[in-house]
Amino acid sequence: MWNDASIRTPLVRTLAAVLAVGLLGACSSEPGSPDATGARVVAAAYPFAEAARWVGRARVEVEDLTPPGTEPHDLEVTSDQVDALLDADLAVVAGGAFQPALEDAAERRDGPTLVALEAPGIEGDDPHVWLDPVTMGAVVRAARDALLEIDGLDAPSIRAGARTALARLAALDAEYRAGLARCDRRVIVTAHDAFGRLGARYDLRVESIAGISPEEEPDPRRIARLARLVRDEGITTVFTEELVSPQVAEVLARDAGVRTDVLSPIESLTPEQRRAGEDYVSLMRRNLERIRTASGCA
Ligand SMILES: [Zn+2]
Repeated sequence: MWNDASIRTPLVRTLAAVLAVGLLGACSSEPGSPDATGARVVAAAYPFAEAARWVGRARVEVEDLTPPGTEPHDLEVTSDQVDALLDADLAVVAGGAFQPALEDAAERRDGPTLVALEAPGIEGDDPHVWLDPVTMGAVVRAARDALLEIDGLDAPSIRAGARTALARLAALDAEYRAGLARCDRRVIVTAHDAFGRLGARYDLRVESIAGISPEEEPDPRRIARLARLVRDEGITTVFTEELVSPQVAEVLARDAGVRTDVLSPIESLTPEQRRAGEDYVSLMRRNLERIRTASGCA
């Protein structure tokens, strides 16, 4: 574990100062688009909204309850959002207390709710199912099956949407398999513990600065242990993410004499990413390239 007598180092003092400054937060809101065509789906966060859009295509209006550029963990919901959640034909949530307020509200629904962690083919309780293309495929299949149960939707269109999405995810899986097959290092250091499923799928050991939720305050002993790991393993890069302050990662990287780079947990698109036309697939590809660079993959 993290028992370590040598933690009272300048690194830890610097970290204490950084933590005192507090973590950055971003907040914005954007109403959902109201032109319903067939069914209304509310999704708890961006990756689930993407899965519903892929499958439902033009037949389904999808509202993402996490505003763009907002960290979705522990999202607080407004009464309007609860109403939208209760009224929707289908709700898609992560489960596993990824967003407890939203998941509690979803339990009051009369209609169907897809809980991603309970989708057939998904095991374990890490809610970051979308960061493994294989478990994201399980979410797509479950979304397909849930949408096929809704009256009035065009079943062939839904099946076709799911097929296209599954083909895209299978291609992504193949790219990850090939891209991470031969690497100098198989340990990555990330900001919060979002990449465990991805690591398990592609044989990477993932160590994170914060826990499953980025809101958790990093433990100085953990950071000291990570600093030693970076040196011992010859790790070149400490990964940060877009929606959480990079300060702790930057202190860690500076102390160890390595660089930082952004690895997206793809939990919410920033307004800049939306403007640039980024999406789940483009960000998954960029993540792969950055892991390959950091890990010296052939
Ligand atoms: Zn997360």
